[in-house]
Order: sequence, then structure tokens, then C-alpha cells
Amino acid sequence: MKNQHENAEENSLVEVKVDHSKCNGDSICVDVCPVAVFELQEVSEYPGEKKSVVVDNDACIVCRACEVQCPTQAITVEE
Ligand code: SF4
Repeated sequence: MKNQHENAEENSLVEVKVDHSKCNGDSICVDVCPVAVFELQEVSEYPGEKKSVVVDNDACIVCRACEVQCPTQAITVEE
């Protein structure tokens, strides 16, 4: 139980961000994230385009696959 509690505290300190001015909607982050942090969605600032949206920030395990593999460096994972 103690470990689960510590993990929960760690996750609350993680912030996953997508810069929608850089995101090209190729969904690589959706494919590489092991815990489904991202979904492609249309956002109000870019009508008609799909962008990566962080739908489950607290699930992030900070593997950084998304940061490394995003071809436009649109994603930052801050601890
Ligand atoms: S760092 Fe890993 S777990 Fe976190 S959002 Fe990126 S791919 Fe998903």
C-alpha cells in the first residue's frame, strides 16, 4: 500500500503538455504511450484538424517515449 501511495504522489507531480502549434496530428504519441495518456481530438483553436490531447495526465509513468518519438517535438513531460 505504501508504494501505491508514493506512486500516486509522484504522478501528481508530472505534467504532460502538447504544443498544438507544433502537433501535426500523426498520432505517434497515441501509439507509443503505454498507458493511453493521449487521444486525437479536434480542438477549438484548430477547427477541422486533429491534435493530440492529454486525456489522462496522471497515468503517465514518465517513460518519455512520446517526447523522444514526436517528430515535431510538440510534447514535453515535466516532473
Ligand atoms: S512519458 Fe510515456 S507514459 Fe508519459 S505520456 Fe509520454 S509515452 Fe505516455
